[in-house]
Amino acid sequence: MAAHWPYVYATQLWFLCNVFERQEKCMADSEYWNPKNETMPRSKLQALQLLKLRRMCEWAYASSPFHRQRFDSANFHPERLKTLDDLRRIPFMTREEWMDSQVRQPLFGDLPTTGQHNAIRYHLTSGTTGRTPIRVLDSTKDWNWISEMWCYGFWAFGVRPGDTVYFAFGYGSFIGFWGAHYCCEKIGALVIPGGAQTTEGRIKQIIEMGATTVCSTPTYALHLWQKAQEMGIDLAKESNVNKVILSGEPAGSIPAVKQQLEKAWGAKCGDSAGMTELGTIMIFECSHQPGGTHIIEDHYIEEVINPHTDEPVGYGELGERVVTSFGRGFIPVIRYRTKDMVMKVPASTCSCGRTWDLYDGGIRGRWDDMKLIRGTNVYPRAVEALIREYAAIDEFQIYIWRKDDIQDEITIKVELAPGHEADWGTLQPDLIKNLGAAHEGLRFNIELMDRGTLPRFELKAKRLVDVRPIARYNQ
Ligand SMILES: [Zn+2]
Repeated sequence: MAAHWPYVYATQLWFLCNVFERQEKCMADSEYWNPKNETMPRSKLQALQLLKLRRMCEWAYASSPFHRQRFDSANFHPERLKTLDDLRRIPFMTREEWMDSQVRQPLFGDLPTTGQHNAIRYHLTSGTTGRTPIRVLDSTKDWNWISEMWCYGFWAFGVRPGDTVYFAFGYGSFIGFWGAHYCCEKIGALVIPGGAQTTEGRIKQIIEMGATTVCSTPTYALHLWQKAQEMGIDLAKESNVNKVILSGEPAGSIPAVKQQLEKAWGAKCGDSAGMTELGTIMIFECSHQPGGTHIIEDHYIEEVINPHTDEPVGYGELGERVVTSFGRGFIPVIRYRTKDMVMKVPASTCSCGRTWDLYDGGIRGRWDDMKLIRGTNVYPRAVEALIREYAAIDEFQIYIWRKDDIQDEITIKVELAPGHEADWGTLQPDLIKNLGAAHEGLRFNIELMDRGTLPRFELKAKRLVDVRPIARYNQ
């Protein structure tokens, strides 16, 4: 029991601080949510990671049949973790294994460490492609941790008790911003759950309530602005919003998207990213806006590996994210291959003083998103980054098809913003030239669409449509 005392003491201290002296008095001057851990020297940070890694692996081995079987078959035992390098003895965990276990043993598979009766929350992935969703359960302790992770990010981007935070989020089974909602309560900010209502209704509420912070996907933040324009509302002038916190799609770190959003809202835009598999965020952008996202390194180990050789890659090299989480007791996530494309850079890249490394450009897309068109690699996020340079383009879709059953073609369908119709004559050839130059001369087709014909998204925009016969089979 002795190990619990520091936690009890810290909880009481926090309680006293929060209720009797008001939390803002204690914390308002700090740039960090957890000053000690966010500025911890890396040697100490790594010692902390090793300690937590061992505890998590011991817990997983003792309580999760899924992990015990995997560890045993790889001849790995938690006792073998003597240094952080020993992490590489642990076998990778994949989404496919997790899915298989859910199919074999519905609903949750053999990954959970305890039964459904000990859970307080049930969530699942937002997957829209028809594949089995990942189903997750959380305990009270897990849920506290989930909101705590969001607190790191929200505090770092400047959310304080005086803020009014609006969630443009559906509050459904998808985990999304749920944890962020609780984080704002913990910070002491006023929370407005946007919930299920029209975009117009949300815009009115943002203005009426004087929201200072809006949380949304990048796509929906753009959509809110477009809709506001149609309503004759200038959000930059008529709202009190000074922070837009983005999550859910890689576009939050695309410079052109960010610039467009910052201008549209007259606010700073910060990126963050999480996963249903973790229940919360693992990276966030601080208020210094270094062009990347800090990794919450006291609660995760984030490795970057070459997706083909599985060998680790160094700072400044593109690779695949592999995540180990220390926070969620119900569902231990250990060396989980995410297929996310990232580039790690050292903490010193940012001027905020955190000792936590960053992912330059946030999550840059997914390795399995890559499309091969006539021998050229095309990454949807790279195409989006280029398209977003054109303010005249309101919405777009990347359409991949096969001509005469032989040749693969890529067409960018675009809708122009109102008042920009005359730009088409110069925009079309310019876009063909720039997209071609970025893709080894690949010829892109650009097609003008009528306004309102392309789909709009609130969650997880799906702007890539691949109708080639094989791709359809794979989906
Ligand atoms: Zn920073």
